[in-house]
Amino acid sequence: MKNKKIIILVLLFISFCFLLFCLFNFYKLYDSKIKVYEKQKSTYENLKKENNKLKMEIANETKKGEKIEDSYKSLNEKKESLEKVINEKEAEKERKAKEQNQDYTKKVTGKVIYLTFDDGPSNYTEDILNTLDKYDVKATFFVTCSGSLDKYAKKIIEKGHTLGLHTCTHRYNTIYSSEENYFNDLNSISNKVEELTGYKSKYIRFPGGSSNTISRFNKGIMTRLTQKVTEDGYKYYDWNIDSGDAAGADKDGVYNNVISALKNHNYSTNMVLMHDIKVSTKDALDGIIKDALDMGYTFSNINDYTSEVHHSVNN
Ligand SMILES: [Zn+2]
Repeated sequence: MKNKKIIILVLLFISFCFLLFCLFNFYKLYDSKIKVYEKQKSTYENLKKENNKLKMEIANETKKGEKIEDSYKSLNEKKESLEKVINEKEAEKERKAKEQNQDYTKKVTGKVIYLTFDDGPSNYTEDILNTLDKYDVKATFFVTCSGSLDKYAKKIIEKGHTLGLHTCTHRYNTIYSSEENYFNDLNSISNKVEELTGYKSKYIRFPGGSSNTISRFNKGIMTRLTQKVTEDGYKYYDWNIDSGDAAGADKDGVYNNVISALKNHNYSTNMVLMHDIKVSTKDALDGIIKDALDMGYTFSNINDYTSEVHHSVNN
């Protein structure tokens, strides 16, 4: 009986120990689970914070994007309206040019010759226009208030040439005596051309060229005039090839001066000074055009794309 009691006590003790062991392990497991849970919870909180931060950033970026899109839209609208204005102006310009049978929008590339005829029109202008027609070549006439202006101003434009202004009187002593006198004279020829043709020319050539020294009786006048005409929207053209007709070259002399200059230089813009009041120019023109075409040159009238050929101003 006593043994049985001892056995029961031992069994109870063992059971108690086992229970303690189990409780201890359970507590250990529970504790580690709690720790893992807390760690996960804090990771979750951090992720949540990150997520909110990202959401805010996205919202900010979206706002910025919307702003950029808005300003892009308004810029695009501005661009479109500007393009519309430009297109309208271009169309207007083309329409006017077509009306006057002049293609100022023409861009000529390669080696180009711009024949320019000063001091006319005259009785030789008719033959010169016919020679130009024969080769379908366009040129530029810097006209004065000559007796033949009424007869040829419109004809020059109708044939597709450019009508430039050279001054009305061409009298050095008057036009270079003051800026006022120069512009009065220039306005006279400009108004006359406009009356006769409806066309207001913005292309000019100074009598004697911008490099002339004949105006030195009025110190600095060419410096002031070249600046003022540009400010007023004119384009002035000097020359880089002189036919020599004004200095008295005969037909062969004019031909040789032009052709040998073309052979010696390699300009892309060849601005040739001639005068349609000179019989030598009238007679040499056919040969010059024929041979220059054979040499691969193109002819053009002065237009908005023509580079301005300027001399150095000497006064
Ligand atoms: Zn002249």
